[in-house]
Amino acid sequence: MVMDKLGSSLQDALKKLVNSGRIDEKSVNDVVKDIQRALLQADVNVQLVMNMSKQIKERALKEEVPSGMNPREHVIRIVYQELINIIGEGTEINLEPQTIMMIGLQGSGKTTTTSKLARYFQKKGLKPAVICADTFRPGAYHQLKSLCDKNSIPFYGEEGNEDSLGIVERGMDKLGKYDVLIIDTAGRHSLEQDLIEEMEQINSIAKPDKKLLVLDAAIGQQASEQARAFNESIGISGVVITKLDGTAKGGGALSAVSETNSSIAFIGVGETSGDLEKFEPDRFISRLLG
Ligand code: GDP
Repeated sequence: MVMDKLGSSLQDALKKLVNSGRIDEKSVNDVVKDIQRALLQADVNVQLVMNMSKQIKERALKEEVPSGMNPREHVIRIVYQELINIIGEGTEINLEPQTIMMIGLQGSGKTTTTSKLARYFQKKGLKPAVICADTFRPGAYHQLKSLCDKNSIPFYGEEGNEDSLGIVERGMDKLGKYDVLIIDTAGRHSLEQDLIEEMEQINSIAKPDKKLLVLDAAIGQQASEQARAFNESIGISGVVITKLDGTAKGGGALSAVSETNSSIAFIGVGETSGDLEKFEPDRFISRLLG
């Protein structure tokens, strides 16, 4: 379970609970303070941290320690459950024919993730194909095409054409025989109304089964605003957090999932096509608290 992997300061605080033999308010407060520190450092939204702290304190003091558990295990279980409440168990992307639309701002890792996801389905034995509807960022076409070529993944794009809606229509027409269609869409440097409108139009043309919001692990509090805007306009089915191989812990993504009715589907852990992992709540929580 998650407790073996917790950071050292948190482990020290938790040890106090065991030493005290019973759960008293002061030791719970100490533990909660350490958890708050860890979560805030990991970029988790302050309000979320405060609400969760309150819940943890109340439950740790009120709920009886289940038999067979020591106070320490009891508190860790509560912390874990409260985090899972926010993070969720993860969004399952089934291995079946479907259309997936990728959404996110420029630099989030959307194009890289599109190719990783195609590779993921390919390795599972499905036939994926990719449409490049990012007509905004110069270089997106070539980047995605060469990533797809490397793994012999069918690709549709129209270099130099800015009509992303037409590209989606024609791409779906041409690549309709493949199992999984992944559409890489354009981003912007910041959340702009014309981006939202473009996503709404692509959404109504492509009618994707899944809409994945791609967020950089380092994004912090802006995650919330982005998630809300995209979710209100087209609905988000799941989140992909990229660059978790770096130092950022991805706490901002928690605000994103709490804003939407979704949870994390995948995490990106590097720049190559194999660097995509299915989301595992335990590991993510350990990292947040560690
Ligand atoms: P887009 O503008 O959203 O399409 O972003 P890109 O896919 O071009 O990614 C922006 C940069 O982030 C590129 O240099 C990618 O190689 C890099 N990148 C994307 N995902 C990851 C990841 O999981 N880990 C690391 N280290 N770099 C990533």
